[in-house]
Amino acid sequence: MLTLESKISELSAVGPAYVKKLQKVGIENVMDLLFYFPFRYDDFSDVKKIGDVELGEVVSVKGKILDIQNIRTWKRKMNLTEAMIEDESGVMKAIWFNQPFMTRNLRSGINVSLSGKVVYAQEGLQISNPSYELLGSGQSMHTARLVPIYHETEGLSSKWLRAHIKPLMKLTKDVEEFLPNELIKNQKLFSLSEAISQIHFPDNEEKALKAKRRLAFDELFLVQLYMILQKKKWQENKAVKIKFDEKIEKEIKTFVKSLPFTLTNAQRTSSWSIIKDLQKNVSMNRLLEGDVGSGKTLVALISALAVIKSGFQVAFMAPTSILAGQHFSEAVKRFGCLDFKIALLTSSESLMLCNGKEKNINRGELLKKIKKGEINFLIGTHSLIQESVSFFNLAYSIVDEQHRFGIDQRAKLQNKVICIKDGLETVPHLLSMTATPIPRTLALTVYGDLDLSVLDEMPKDRKKIITKVVAPVNLNLAYRFIYDQIKKGRQAFVICPLIDESDVLEVKSAKQEYEKLSKKIYSKLKIGLLHGKLKQKEKTETMKKFVSGEIDILVSTSVIEVGVDIPNASVMLIEGADRFGLAQLHQFRGRVGRGKYQSFCFLFTDSTSATTARRLKALVKSDNGFQLAEQDLKIRGPGELVGVRQSGFPDLAMASLGDVELIKSTREEAIKLVDKDYKLKKFPKLVMKLRKFTKKVHFE
Ligand code: ADP
Ligand code: MG
Repeated sequence: MLTLESKISELSAVGPAYVKKLQKVGIENVMDLLFYFPFRYDDFSDVKKIGDVELGEVVSVKGKILDIQNIRTWKRKMNLTEAMIEDESGVMKAIWFNQPFMTRNLRSGINVSLSGKVVYAQEGLQISNPSYELLGSGQSMHTARLVPIYHETEGLSSKWLRAHIKPLMKLTKDVEEFLPNELIKNQKLFSLSEAISQIHFPDNEEKALKAKRRLAFDELFLVQLYMILQKKKWQENKAVKIKFDEKIEKEIKTFVKSLPFTLTNAQRTSSWSIIKDLQKNVSMNRLLEGDVGSGKTLVALISALAVIKSGFQVAFMAPTSILAGQHFSEAVKRFGCLDFKIALLTSSESLMLCNGKEKNINRGELLKKIKKGEINFLIGTHSLIQESVSFFNLAYSIVDEQHRFGIDQRAKLQNKVICIKDGLETVPHLLSMTATPIPRTLALTVYGDLDLSVLDEMPKDRKKIITKVVAPVNLNLAYRFIYDQIKKGRQAFVICPLIDESDVLEVKSAKQEYEKLSKKIYSKLKIGLLHGKLKQKEKTETMKKFVSGEIDILVSTSVIEVGVDIPNASVMLIEGADRFGLAQLHQFRGRVGRGKYQSFCFLFTDSTSATTARRLKALVKSDNGFQLAEQDLKIRGPGELVGVRQSGFPDLAMASLGDVELIKSTREEAIKLVDKDYKLKKFPKLVMKLRKFTKKVHFE
């Protein structure tokens, strides 16, 4: 007897060739086949009498075949199959192109159902290339209803899938429910078996939508539940309670007053949330999300100061040595006159601040000092997580541009466990920072295991970067403009287009651009080249030359470093701008306008599509990364947002990441459930489902 667990090879109508095809898309058993959902429907539900059909309609008619034959049109060299269909209201012609085998399936005298578009031909109205099925063969599946259309990969046609899924519909009642009853009632959801049956062969559009909602709900709910459980687990980590007494509060206030600018409100609130978290003996796990230039580093420094002042060590990790170097300089600049020790550790450098001066220090020497607690604030790259680095009393880790690190790298920094007096093991508080501005609701899902602080406000007096979409014919004007800027002492970026997934072509386009600029356009200027195929050392060398001003124009692929500060760069030219997401273009643009000079960004595109025009216009108008991310979400869907695509989200969850209502409901329900029953003891089926789901979806 057929069950949900039966292998597909046990299905009588499925031969070995199809077993292979199905396996290629991950379908092994009946259950898998039931979970292979259609992505849309052909609406053939409008069933009419032949006498009532009208020109242009998509309809279904049912009747008897009076006559059917193949005809060859000599003029157009085409095979036509023509059939006359009759019902009690009239007769009409059906016509198929290049499907001569049709006469083998359909014969005169047979009753059929046909669905297709009504067109006008010489002899009157006819139905063109209709889907068909024999009447009397049970419930319809290819015509006269909402007909499911599946992704047709590996030679699996929708028609084949329908024919093989339809007979399994009687098994849907055996699909076990895993959601709590109360939740189903509360959210007015279909039961799982109803949803599966209606997603394939819906009674009507409303039910199709309801089925889709239930199935999308499941995926998002499981994501949320996973994230919330991760968060709970994290909160079992004990951490050092940072005391925040009057003395420390005063020190922080003095520090903030000493800055040459006032904090933005967003910086103030975020710093405060972090400091509040640090005062708990539960390990903080917070994400600081803020647009490029919103001043995340300073928030990191303020919170670091609180920890250092209460006698503990702080580590600050950045993805590249240049960025680490810049953070070190920033820390020296801001903290230089204070009474604690700051050091920099990268694979090639070890520096420390000594009596107000930066000084090279032997690496081994530095490691010893870190271990003895003689360094209070350690800034660096991946070097910080090497075995050889051990801390004296690390209580706070900060990770900049967190998406550039793997989860295990972040975990390693976290695992530099320290012991406090009573022998209790503690884990450092963790602050991750990212400049990927993703809309808040989306962040609650993708980063649902973290607490979130958002810098949604830019420092005042920041000059807006003048952004222009430039027509290809005006390229020379842009080159001229760049030349003039460089003559004024500025520097420029040229970003080359994203060609496709393989970065080989991208590298080629960057090289070509580099050749053209250095030989033809600007033979007297110094041009640098940066792309993904260079060794890290070469990349660093080139970046350093650009930072120091040795290079005038840097030609780069999208590997251009995040977060680096080159205040002297004032122009950016982006080729093939239509190929990048808005959020990414915005990130690139954030590389200029970081100094006191009015800055410019020129967007080039060959594309004439209206969508491109609309997207680039959004970039010209808005300098708010969050707004742009929202737009990207609307225009291109969540898959294009950095960080989401890589996370391996399932299709439905992915599709519903733009569905704010669903995100909210799933999150609320997940929180409610975990609050009631953290171990999910009462819901073993849910636990099992979650386990299977998290295995399938790789959460980075
Ligand atoms: P990001 O958030 O992109 O990492 P940074 O922390 O590098 O931004 O800050 C960008 C620049 O803005 C730095 O030069 C920093 O000193 C400056 N900055 C930070 N906060 C403020 C502020 N409140 N007012 C003015 N400038 C600020
Ligand atoms: Mg930064």
